[in-house]
Amino acid sequence: MPSFLHGCRYFILPLFITVMALTFIQVTQASWQIWNEIIERLPYWLLSIAAAMALQFNRSRLAYLAVLILVFYVSKQSSSPLFTAPNSHIDELFIGGAMVITWFAFIKDRGLFSSHGIVRTLGIIICLGLGFIWLAAIDHFQADIIAKSPVNISYQALILVPIILCFALVFFRAIWRANLVNTSILTTLGIWLFYYFRPDYLPLSILLSSLAVIYLFTILIDSYFLAYRDELTGLASRRALYNLVLSLGRKYSVAMLDIDHFKKFNDTYGHDVGDQVLRLVAAKMAQVSGGGKVFRYGGEEFTIVFPRKDAEAVLDDLEDVRESIEDYRIVLREDKRQKNSNTQAKAKRSKSKTAKKKTVSVTISIGVAERLGGENFDQAMKRADQALYRAKKKGRNQICI
Ligand code: GH3
Ligand code: MG
Ligand code: MG
Repeated sequence: MPSFLHGCRYFILPLFITVMALTFIQVTQASWQIWNEIIERLPYWLLSIAAAMALQFNRSRLAYLAVLILVFYVSKQSSSPLFTAPNSHIDELFIGGAMVITWFAFIKDRGLFSSHGIVRTLGIIICLGLGFIWLAAIDHFQADIIAKSPVNISYQALILVPIILCFALVFFRAIWRANLVNTSILTTLGIWLFYYFRPDYLPLSILLSSLAVIYLFTILIDSYFLAYRDELTGLASRRALYNLVLSLGRKYSVAMLDIDHFKKFNDTYGHDVGDQVLRLVAAKMAQVSGGGKVFRYGGEEFTIVFPRKDAEAVLDDLEDVRESIEDYRIVLREDKRQKNSNTQAKAKRSKSKTAKKKTVSVTISIGVAERLGGENFDQAMKRADQALYRAKKKGRNQICI
């Protein structure tokens, strides 16, 4: 389920928003026609800003794409012979461009001004060259291929082969590795091909400005997650907690949660299994009811803030979290367990008799405090911490106020 949600958030939702936005722009064409002069200049600004931002935030693939698209737009606007000459090479350019975008979907973001920069530049030239080679090959062998083929193959169909292949590769890559950069690259390819097949549907300036905006959003949202999300658990980070504190009112409760004997757990099963368990426990905490906002405070400690609630009011919500984690039988992945061969570890594993699916479980202790008049957040949290200490002392796996 989490991976499905992840796919929705980083793949389906951005694509859906993009398609809806472009459809809206197309439908409302009449109302923005008067701004055409300004709109035609937009890609120069937006793509330059997107390239600069991408570079600043080490999203070199988006920086390259923004620059390449800008070059394309400049030559198109200046009526370069590439587009106007009688035997212009538009098909070659679009197929080569599709190959460049596809290649970008499979490489990593690397520093622009390094040896990687040279490799990237060479790659772009080679991909564009492949577009020319493919069409030259079609021209050369066209008669042969069509004559020998058992089905009726047209010239157009032969052009479509690399395009479909590129799109399939980038599409599956974006599903397989659902993140905003991959979805942006898929959108770039989609818009690139859309313009090739339907050049009159929307002005190029609108399509490319939309791409620049998508790049800017990708960079901003990615940077936000980098700063405010914990990488291991996907929960909000401690920095996000202190950001929330700024907007808290006078009344709230804060709970500190800590996994019991987690050091021993790590020593027994290994750090990798510990990480796996941390992720699963965090996912359980994230389901807390009562409007609680969950943060990974650090290590195996978590914080839940309940705005506008006193401590008594959140006890049931916290009890549900404690119980759900206590009852959670965590199935260990086989390969992780095999690494650990010590007999003590084996003894402590679940009693489950199924050979492959051994399970483990952990418990948590919780300390909760409501803000008292005149207190700041740190003071309220300190009292929650003291309550947590009492819960530990009293035997763990419980809540203390
Ligand atoms: P207690 O019941 O008193 O809380 O015992 P404890 O062992 O959980 O206490 P303590 O806070 O001393 O130990 C925390 C351990 O959590 C230390 C470290 O091994 C483990 N830990 C902290 N962060 C991570 C992490 O990111 N991954 C893994 N696998 N382990 C972590
Ligand atoms: Mg701890
Ligand atoms: Mg602990």
